[in-house]
Amino acid sequence: MPQLKFQNNMVTTLKKYFGYDHFRDQQLEIIETVLQRKDSMVIMPTGGGKSICFQLPALHFEGVTLVVSPLIALMKDQVDGLNANGIMAAYFNSSQSSDEHATILESIHQKKLKLLYVAPESLRILENIISEKYISCIAVDEAHCISSWGHDFRPSYQQLSFFKKLLPNTPVIALTATADKATREDILNQLNIPKAKQFITSFDRKNISLEVRLADKRVAQIIRFINERKQEYGIVYCLSRKTTEQLADKLSINGIKAAAYHAGLPFDKRSQVQEDFIFDKINVVCATVAFGMGIDKSNVRWVVHYNMPKNLEGYYQEIGRAGRDGLKSNALLFHSYADVIQLRKFAQGASNEEVQIAKLDRMKQFTEATTCRRKILLSYFGELLADNCGNCDVCKNPPHFFNGTVIAQKILSTIYRLKEQEASGTVIDVLRGANNAAVNDKNYQSISTFGIGKGTSWKDWQQYIIQLINQGFCEIAFHKNNNLQLTDFSKKVLFDNTIVHLTKPVITAEISQKEKKSKVIKKKKNNTLFEKLRALRYKISLEENIPAYLVFNDATLKEIERERPMSESEFLLISGVGQRKAEVYGAEFIAEVIDFMGSKVIRKTKKSETHLVTYELYKSGLSIDEISIERKLKSPTIYSHIARLFLEGKDIAIFNFVSRKEVDLVQEAKKSLDSPKTLKAYFDYFDEQLDYFKIRLALSIIEKEER
Ligand code: ADP
Ligand code: ZN
Repeated sequence: MPQLKFQNNMVTTLKKYFGYDHFRDQQLEIIETVLQRKDSMVIMPTGGGKSICFQLPALHFEGVTLVVSPLIALMKDQVDGLNANGIMAAYFNSSQSSDEHATILESIHQKKLKLLYVAPESLRILENIISEKYISCIAVDEAHCISSWGHDFRPSYQQLSFFKKLLPNTPVIALTATADKATREDILNQLNIPKAKQFITSFDRKNISLEVRLADKRVAQIIRFINERKQEYGIVYCLSRKTTEQLADKLSINGIKAAAYHAGLPFDKRSQVQEDFIFDKINVVCATVAFGMGIDKSNVRWVVHYNMPKNLEGYYQEIGRAGRDGLKSNALLFHSYADVIQLRKFAQGASNEEVQIAKLDRMKQFTEATTCRRKILLSYFGELLADNCGNCDVCKNPPHFFNGTVIAQKILSTIYRLKEQEASGTVIDVLRGANNAAVNDKNYQSISTFGIGKGTSWKDWQQYIIQLINQGFCEIAFHKNNNLQLTDFSKKVLFDNTIVHLTKPVITAEISQKEKKSKVIKKKKNNTLFEKLRALRYKISLEENIPAYLVFNDATLKEIERERPMSESEFLLISGVGQRKAEVYGAEFIAEVIDFMGSKVIRKTKKSETHLVTYELYKSGLSIDEISIERKLKSPTIYSHIARLFLEGKDIAIFNFVSRKEVDLVQEAKKSLDSPKTLKAYFDYFDEQLDYFKIRLALSIIEKEER
């Protein structure tokens, strides 16, 4: 098929079933490869749009596309989403009854079913249909699970090589968000698809803003952060199970709908939390990294890391759960040295200790960055960003350096005088001349730098020390009680006057001031059309028992809010509205828009200007009857509005309601009746054969023409 025709064809399917107008980066090329029955491997970040790469071809193939997926929760979500778009899809697992299985198999025999999701463990029960007669394509989702190199190895994935042997002509598409090379090669080998075409898209998730803050009063900061975004949904990742529970409690006490999630909770409890989150019943989940794999929720607006993740792969995967719909989202990470120390302890003694420590170091560098964070992050994944991103805290608030040599000298000479035998806490105590046991017991008052830093706060000293560590002017001896030690560079500062550049410590209070300001702006946003649409979406989601984001995602609601569609044809133009959703949900959403428009104009206009409300609705293409239903006013009233609008010079196609001939007749009547004052006189004159509204409109035309 010629390229352009193929492209048009695919875009038509994309719009019809998924509601989108164009493909994202590489989706079309991938779809083309699959439809040419060639094998492929797709590496795309979480939220990049992998699913469409096999879901759309499935619609063009005759048989069924088998989707191997590791998690039942994820399958159900995808199947619900497909069904909502009018696509025949199902999942298959051992918990279903034999009747359910029979129905599914029947729909495969009849070639009705387009996609069948199955966990590798359940493939056995499908034995009878694993033939090229029925199966058109095999998609292996989360394909990194096949590799013991990967971070999420599942032994059951290793049997999948049998597909290529059994169905040599059926295209296989493997998809994952894990980019590392060893895993990639493993996938190709184990699936027996050495010649698969590889598609690696950009890992940049531009819509997620990146921010790192010092872990100072974390809970208070998190509560403020959430209160800024009361209507939004987010995840707080914590290192320990205990922290997830404690934090969830604290958030709940502060009126935030939050719950804890970790692998130690009973299965029922975990499912409940997951479901409540998916169905928008709770706003926040405080979780260990166990949470998230099965979550496809597209309206997760933010991810907070209460603790530092142990490597950048984990961090990137976790923040990737925010903003799958492409809308602006936030990733906030709290950085503390206590976490670094803790994570080092975890790594020690592991079989790949060196690798783990090296990864932790890269993570640490990211959190301590003084240049664009996204550049650092993407370079870790082998992608170079030409310009600074403008959407990370460093880009937004570039650090201001000053000559901090004296400050550095005070710190380093204190470390020196303490014989490199103390951790940062005691170093700061000595600098600030503290009177506590740690100082008194060892007689540190006699040290010459004791108390020389009284005028600087504890927190500022802490931040200066961290900066010195980052720049290599001193280091933490992790193996020796985390004592601070000098380096070769320290000596240059102490004895050669090497200049040290430091940045002003960030004050948490300053951040909160900024937040307060933006809060004032945000507060005004209540009662917007978006909120109304959201409420309607929630209502539908409960009625249909599917997650709200499967009705429409936030991006679609935003577009409805912006474009204000008032007819089904306009509604269909919205991105994310396909044919089925337009048919099923269109009327309700359009009514909500019209209602909002009406009430908005009413709020703004005086009673004497009610005809302007009618004008808004008229302009949006509603008929007189529709306007009258919408405004709960009788149609003669609406016609009187139309007449008035016409007289005021508004753009009314008046001859759509009354013909020239009828106007001429009314003109004659006017003459012969000598301009009567009531419409009834005309009505009687025409023997009740000419409608009141026509008479009224004709009179306004005559009036205008006589002016
Ligand atoms: P992944 O599996 O790569 O994590 P998904 O396939 O779930 O990502 O897609 C993420 C989101 O992007 C979904 O809400 C999906 O509907 C949306 N999406 C995918 N392709 C497009 C497109 N071409 N235009 C607009 N939105 C898209
Ligand atoms: Zn940046």
